[in-house]
Amino acid sequence: MFYSLKSRLNYSLGKIVPTNFIIKGLELHPATLLLELTNICNANCIYCGYRFMKRKKGVMSEVLFKKLVDEFDDMGGGDINITGIVGDPLVNQNIVERITYLRTKKNIRNIKLSTNGILLQKVGIKRLLESGVNSILINMGGMDKETYKMLFGTDAFYEVYENVREILNTNKSIDRTVDLTIVIKYISLDGMSKNKSYLLLKELGKNSHKKIIFDNIYDSWCGRISKNDMIGDMKLKLNREKKEPCSLLYNTLSIMWNGDVVPCCRDLDGDLILGNVMEQSIIDIWKGNILKNLRESFTQGTIPSICDKCEHYEGLKPIKSLHLFKRSLAFRQKEVCDV
Ligand code: SF4
Repeated sequence: MFYSLKSRLNYSLGKIVPTNFIIKGLELHPATLLLELTNICNANCIYCGYRFMKRKKGVMSEVLFKKLVDEFDDMGGGDINITGIVGDPLVNQNIVERITYLRTKKNIRNIKLSTNGILLQKVGIKRLLESGVNSILINMGGMDKETYKMLFGTDAFYEVYENVREILNTNKSIDRTVDLTIVIKYISLDGMSKNKSYLLLKELGKNSHKKIIFDNIYDSWCGRISKNDMIGDMKLKLNREKKEPCSLLYNTLSIMWNGDVVPCCRDLDGDLILGNVMEQSIIDIWKGNILKNLRESFTQGTIPSICDKCEHYEGLKPIKSLHLFKRSLAFRQKEVCDV
């Protein structure tokens, strides 16, 4: 099997750098901020926690958005993911203006988003590609109308397919190309290699900085989705034993549209609220006792019920990436300079 240089470097790094060394740096500063611009979605996917959400729906205010971006930039910045815990970021009417604002900040690095692609045309494909976003992931449901409706709960296959074709084409013609990932969720791969729509997408994607990935593996959103929800070849991940902290507690801070801060993108209804950024700073929440105790609960065997039921958990393995190692070093250096 062929491994890229990056994977090989990451693998070697995992073997030689003690996890604790990387963790100590990451505890100083979140490497990624997940901003839930909205928790409203225009689809109702069978594999997503959205249909079980009990909290109020809304859109992050302009004031709160700018406050968070300014604060994150001032403290040294990092990566921004504008995909909500649930919700489609393109539902936010000012999505392009918000990305443009993020791009004006010198310490904001990668800006990424995931979408179902239904509203791409409405937002303006060229405008979005030229907004300053670095990567866009588009989820598609199979390669036909019926599969799409079964998986996404709405009848938008042709619309999304045309949008994906257009974004792939447009990405070839703009100056600063965006990394595009098209994820095809499937029920069955039978006949896919000869499916005309798929072959056309594959052909179109050449030289357009895209990846096409097939996906049939899901997690239960902490026990909300069951095996009975899986159709055809769809599968639920196994719930692994959790002896070490979840990596998400060290590399990402997730902020809901109303300012509530939660530890990860699987805390759908805010069971584990760490604070609220209207009253506290990002860094105080990141270094605060609630998150510290949550990390420790894994080694003490007292993890919260939602973590116990979570298959999104990966342990600390993802921490040992070259990217996070570098970020950890930078946070340690900054801490020394700031003292
Ligand atoms: S185990 Fe799951 S619910 Fe708990 S912090 Fe990790 S991703 Fe979130």
